[in-house]
Amino acid sequence: MTRKDSRYAIKRTGTGLGLFALETIPAGKRLIEYTGRLISNEEVDRRKNGKYFFGLNTKWSLDGTPRSNLARYINHSCSPNAVAYVSRHRVWIWSKRVIKPGEEITYDYGKEYFDVHLKPVGCKCKKCAPETRGKKRRRKS
Ligand SMILES: [Zn+2]
Repeated sequence: MTRKDSRYAIKRTGTGLGLFALETIPAGKRLIEYTGRLISNEEVDRRKNGKYFFGLNTKWSLDGTPRSNLARYINHSCSPNAVAYVSRHRVWIWSKRVIKPGEEITYDYGKEYFDVHLKPVGCKCKKCAPETRGKKRRRKS
């Protein structure tokens, strides 16, 4: 963890790492910015390590690979407790509902990401695969 934020902690999940709340977060609160370098979508297509790209619009994406981007640890869920809002070239994660201490923060990555990255291997979120959560699993890619 390179950036200190006492409200969150990076912890192991069933599938890798995730971002967890350390204190109660009210609904409708701006939590954290998804930071990264602005890159064109052509560059996204050229590069293969697309795990932390965040599509802003038809032209631009953020490359959120650096570990200083704490929001990159937030996993996808089909039943999330947070949501990502794009405002021009910036992305903010907001809470959708009250998030309790110790709860993993998640948002829906969207249909395109789901179809490309999750559908082929099967979504491991709490809603889709509750039985795999909490158990040790080898991390994909
Ligand atoms: Zn799912």
